[in-house]
Amino acid sequence: MKTPRLPIALQQAVMRSLRHSLELANQKLARSYPEPKLIYQQRGTAAGTAWLEKWEIRLNPVLLLENQQAFIDEVVPHELAHLLVWKHFGRVAPHGKEWKWMMESVLGVPAQRTHRFEVESVRSRTFNYRCQCQQHHLTVRRHNRVVRGESEYRCVSCGSLLKPGDYLPS
Ligand SMILES: [Zn+2]
Ligand SMILES: [Zn+2]
Repeated sequence: MKTPRLPIALQQAVMRSLRHSLELANQKLARSYPEPKLIYQQRGTAAGTAWLEKWEIRLNPVLLLENQQAFIDEVVPHELAHLLVWKHFGRVAPHGKEWKWMMESVLGVPAQRTHRFEVESVRSRTFNYRCQCQQHHLTVRRHNRVVRGESEYRCVSCGSLLKPGDYLPS
C-alpha cells in the first residue's frame, strides 16, 4: 500500500500534541523524560504502536489522514502513555491501571483501550472462497495463483478444496 503524503501542518499538529502531553507528564511526574521519535510507518489496521526500548511511536499515515483530530486528541497521548508507563513503572499490563492512571490523571485524556476508526481503506483486499464448512478469505496473491492454476488450497477443518464464492450454509 502506498504511503500517503502527510501535510506539514498535520505533522506539526501531531508534534504539538506529543510535546504538550510530554510536558504535562514531565511536570506532574517531576521528571524530564525525553521526546520520543515519531514515525509514520504503521501499517495495517492499527492506529499506532509504541516501541518501548526504541522510545518510538509509529502512527498509521492512512488512518491519521482520515481521523486527524482523533489522532491529535487521543492516539498520540495513548501511545505516549505506553512509553511513559514503561519508563515509570517498568513492564506492566499494556492497558492496566498504571496506563489508565497515566492517561486520565496525568495526561487528562479519557482512557480507551482501542480506537474505533473506519478501517476499510487500510484493510487489504481479499477474495471470498468457500469450502464445505465455512467462508474463506484469500489474499490477492493466493487468488491469482488459483486463477493461473498454480495452486489449490484446502480447508484445514474439512479438507475440501476451496472454490471461489460465498459459503451458504445448507
Ligand atoms: Zn494501547
Ligand atoms: Zn471447511
